[in-house]
Amino acid sequence: MEDTIFDKIIKREIPAEIVYEDADTLAFLDIAPTNPGHTLVVPKKYSRNVFDINEADWTTLMKVVRKVAHAVRDAVQAEGVNITMNNEPVAGQTVFHAHVHIIPRYAHDGFGLWPKKEYKEGEKQAVAEKIRSKLA
Ligand code: 5GP
Repeated sequence: MEDTIFDKIIKREIPAEIVYEDADTLAFLDIAPTNPGHTLVVPKKYSRNVFDINEADWTTLMKVVRKVAHAVRDAVQAEGVNITMNNEPVAGQTVFHAHVHIIPRYAHDGFGLWPKKEYKEGEKQAVAEKIRSKLA
């Protein structure tokens, strides 16, 4: 197991506002929330991110994400939630223990989404074909 801040939270070596726990998964409040109730869902078994977590562990994690998303929404009367995962530093990952963010959202909360671009001529088909070939 890697020694990240989340491992320390799982092992109760440092405090966190834990909102859910079962044998495989822990959910606790993000220390620096986008909105109050911003929750992190973390597998107890170590994976770095989506690229090394196995399918069974991913499935287990996602079941808890769904359950906690409902609780977060209802607890803070959110109008919606973003469910997001940052994978690798270039995508914003700062803690290298897999985790999924559940972020309560409200109309006019001032937070946007990622920017939208346009494909160049032929680019969409070429990219889609490359992805399809990786999945074949
Ligand atoms: P990432 O940027 O890796 O997707 O998300 C890491 C998250 O962990 C950040 O949103 C950050 O605020 C949160 N975080 C970092 N250190 C701690 C901590 O010690 N306790 C808690 N509860 N959250 C933390």
